[in-house]
Amino acid sequence: MQGLMMDMPLLISSILQHADRHFGDTEIVSRRVEGDIHRYTYSQCHQRARRVADALTRLGVHNGDRIATLAWNGYRHMELYYAVGGMGAVAHTINPRLHPDQIAWIVNHAGDSYLAFDTTFLPIIEAIAAKCPTVKGWIAMIDADKHPVSDKIPNLINYETLLSGGNDDFQWPELDERSAVALCYTSGTTGNPKGAMYSHRSTVLHAYAAALPDAMGASSRDSILPVVPMFHVNAWGLPYTAPMVGAKMVFPGPALDGKSLYELFETEGVTFSAGVPTVWLGLLQHVKQHDLKFSTFKRTVIGGSACPPAMIRTFNDDYGVEVVHAWGMTELSPLGTLSKLAGKHQKLSPAAQQKILEKQGHVIYGIDMKIVGDDGQDLPWDGTTFGNLLVRGPWVIKEYFKGEGGDPLVYDKEGRGWFPTGDVATIDADGYMQITDRSKDVIKSGGEWISSIDLENLAIAHPAVANAAVIGVAHPKWDERPLLIVARKPGAEVTREELLKFYEGKIAKFWMPDDVQFVDAIPLGATGKILKTRLREQFKDYTLPTA
Ligand code: ADP
Repeated sequence: MQGLMMDMPLLISSILQHADRHFGDTEIVSRRVEGDIHRYTYSQCHQRARRVADALTRLGVHNGDRIATLAWNGYRHMELYYAVGGMGAVAHTINPRLHPDQIAWIVNHAGDSYLAFDTTFLPIIEAIAAKCPTVKGWIAMIDADKHPVSDKIPNLINYETLLSGGNDDFQWPELDERSAVALCYTSGTTGNPKGAMYSHRSTVLHAYAAALPDAMGASSRDSILPVVPMFHVNAWGLPYTAPMVGAKMVFPGPALDGKSLYELFETEGVTFSAGVPTVWLGLLQHVKQHDLKFSTFKRTVIGGSACPPAMIRTFNDDYGVEVVHAWGMTELSPLGTLSKLAGKHQKLSPAAQQKILEKQGHVIYGIDMKIVGDDGQDLPWDGTTFGNLLVRGPWVIKEYFKGEGGDPLVYDKEGRGWFPTGDVATIDADGYMQITDRSKDVIKSGGEWISSIDLENLAIAHPAVANAAVIGVAHPKWDERPLLIVARKPGAEVTREELLKFYEGKIAKFWMPDDVQFVDAIPLGATGKILKTRLREQFKDYTLPTA
């Protein structure tokens, strides 16, 4: 027997429509490349998104066409998310921090038909325009009177001029909820990047899930500033979750330094934010240096790479900001787990609670996970046994765009597909997952595994350390041994011996790094994560003193 409920497809256009009707005067505030602060409302955003959709239709954009963006977090980028996805085309966000050759490769692989960009990235567009034959026009997202001129870019269109030719009586089409809405490529640390193609359905379900109290816990009382870029897995879904709950949005644009961020946090009453650990280093340094406090900032989600426990403590103890440690991936839209205390944890000592909050956390309803051995057999949830982490759920990819890399899933006895994350993890009896390492970063020493993440977290807690990375270096007897690579804080002094001493009593003896090397800066990749591939390359001729 069938249920007798309405069949309404889950479409992203309905999210912005909802925000317009029910939170119409709630603000979206953006720092712009023009240099000023722009403010308008969800109603105005919806009106402009419909105009853009109409203008793109007039340009000949069809269902399923890919429209790329190379842009900061801002209101025009938000309009494009909804205009492009809502009309049935695909919003393809590209990370501008990638090398121009990689960007051109991605544009060509995706077959983008238009590309909209913030003018900060004009030099990239000039470098790639001639190499991207599928792109029919390049759209500069800037006021018409500041429109750039370039003889290297054919068909350079102004966003505002384009928009003024669109009609705001555009009606959002009733699409199949399984149709594609957005495309994001993985960073391609191994081989070429691969595209994760999100559907309307997966995006709406992910937005619901992200809003849950034990996930991001977003509400209409929040003022949300996504520091995580809209080109890094859709700013972790916040451009969908915020309008769904009617939260105010604050976009930092190109200014991601501590001072500019702090200003916006204060002037716009920001209550909630999200970003990778490295961006918070800058903000925390700024507030500490100037002896500042946050007046409204209460919670932040930190993920993308392991959040150092010292950062959780600083936010909480010194600034009263709750850190929610989260784990996810491009292939998961991206949210998988978040760490919040459950009812049963309320009576634990602060130290025991802290241990739980340091984990990557509990799955949100919708995602299922398990750990398996190399033989594919399930491993116990005891908090110590680690294995390969597999996930499944309605916002997990089943294959990459254009079938790249073949079938990525592994199948269980019932024939259900699971996505192998490439992460090694433990899960405790309460279902809290902790990442041990990426399988390619874990250090294999004499048949035992050493977590580079744990060693990095400890090093970062040293007051003289600005950032630290640990890589495995070949060793004749042990296969691999850990090498600690450290960037000191400006003006700070610390020796190799002091750092090794700092580990004593905190780790098993065989985990002790065999050596320490100092560098000016730890190289970071396009999404702010430590570039271990670069470090391995840099230290490829290095031999351990113990070798
Ligand atoms: P990329 O692979 O392009 O860097 P993702 O942003 O999809 O892009 O990265 C996903 C990976 O990042 C995960 O598989 C995991 O290794 C790592 N990661 C994400 N969040 C965390 C976290 N909280 N702790 C440790 N690792 C994390």
